[in-house]
Amino acid sequence: MSKIRDELAEGRTFSFEFFPPKTDEAARALEKTISELQPLGPSFVSVTYGAGGSTRDRTRDIVIHIQRDTGITAMAHLTCIAHTRDQLASLLEEYRDAGIENILALAGDPPTDLDEYPHELEYALDLVELVKSVGDFSIGVAAHPELHPRSNGDRAHDRHHLAAKLNATDFGITQFFFEAQHYLRMVDELAALGCDKPVLPGIMPVTNAKQIQRFAAMAGAEFPAWLAERIYAVADEPDEVRKVGIAVATELSQELLDHGAPGLHFYTLNRSPATREIYANLGLSS
Ligand code: FAD
Repeated sequence: MSKIRDELAEGRTFSFEFFPPKTDEAARALEKTISELQPLGPSFVSVTYGAGGSTRDRTRDIVIHIQRDTGITAMAHLTCIAHTRDQLASLLEEYRDAGIENILALAGDPPTDLDEYPHELEYALDLVELVKSVGDFSIGVAAHPELHPRSNGDRAHDRHHLAAKLNATDFGITQFFFEAQHYLRMVDELAALGCDKPVLPGIMPVTNAKQIQRFAAMAGAEFPAWLAERIYAVADEPDEVRKVGIAVATELSQELLDHGAPGLHFYTLNRSPATREIYANLGLSS
């Protein structure tokens, strides 16, 4: 079974996200990470795509390599802003012909370094239509529990677009967040709009205090005061920061599963130890 919609219909999924490595050394490190995570039996893994196509070939090559050479179901992320319809269609055809069956359809972010770029597709939903026209992919989309940063706090507008996007596809994966209430509120708001598609919570363990605050600011995720307090109490001891981060991610994951989340999607940053520890804490390791 390699369509994620089929996996989700069978039960919970547990998945890992990677980014395409830039150097040979980083590629070797990712291979090691994949070999360390494979024994956990992931339902699927996914590989990010550089906005504007900056990692077009690297994302494609690593997605195809993982699925062909390890047998793990691999999903390709794809962003549509600043691409032509033809560029996207030809990449989707390559995926289809290589046996890749799962696509995470994203808008991406508008380029800040270009004055002119193609404006053929603006929203993730535009890309969803194109993906469907190329093949029978299982399609996922991004969800932002704390609202998308370009929504400017307009909750009703944001949820309306998210529900429309989910209703046209198979599942969602969220941006990371640190408090279960953000995810649970989003699920309730989607249900009120008649949308009950599975949305996988994205889990990002804090292993480095400065890095995570930078990521959270970029992603529009709140870095709550209680978490900052726990992290800064041990800020001079990297091992202790890691321990706190893993404990917090374990508590969040357990709470989400207890409230019926359809699975967990781990942002691995191409490293395996934190994910493996959380897995073990949750009793998921076989
Ligand atoms: P959309 O769903 O298109 O939404 C963007 C904004 O437009 C929202 O505010 C929405 O409310 C609004 N909107 C949507 N439709 C309409 C409409 N018809 N009219 C008016 N407003 C509308 N980025 C990358 O570059 N590469 C990646 O690999 C990548 N992977 C990601 C994986 C996950 C799980 C997540 C959560 C995000 C990822 N991103 C990635 C980031 C994502 O590309 C950005 O958040 C981007 O700004 C928006 O993408 P989207 O697909 O959520 O956009």
